[in-house]
Amino acid sequence: MRRIALSNGETVEVECLSCALTSGMIVPDGGTVLETEHFHTHQDVAYPIKGLIILASKRHIKCFDELTEEEKLDYITALSKIRAAQRKILGVEAVYYFYNEDTTHHFHTWMVPRYEWMYEFGRSVESVRPVLLHARNYMNDEKNRNAVIKVLRDLAEELN
Ligand SMILES: [Zn+2]
Repeated sequence: MRRIALSNGETVEVECLSCALTSGMIVPDGGTVLETEHFHTHQDVAYPIKGLIILASKRHIKCFDELTEEEKLDYITALSKIRAAQRKILGVEAVYYFYNEDTTHHFHTWMVPRYEWMYEFGRSVESVRPVLLHARNYMNDEKNRNAVIKVLRDLAEELN
């Protein structure tokens, strides 16, 4: 079991956070943004950044080559739809995508929108960890959390 800190300050203990989220056992802040046959989309519950989306498989798998043909098609379709919605709702010019197989969660892709304020932490991939920590440590106020949730509702409306 792992102890996970949620952005609302609460902690939960789960075997696999991705399973808990995609099955609906845990409802993340802002709820489900998009659900397809094989994937589930929600805010990263640990970091209060507007439109920071996680696209997670419903199946408990770790590696890209474990996806079925049908899941692959569903994945890339969902990914590009979310990207289009981020462009329209968030107005961001760039999104960073992260996916690593040696995770304690299961198969999921982070879609991190790039905002102007992030450039004070540098460019490119090395700035991402400081950006996430800044968000978790200094942006976790009610006003920002509400803004994050409002954006999620707008994204969900755009995507559904
Ligand atoms: Zn899992």
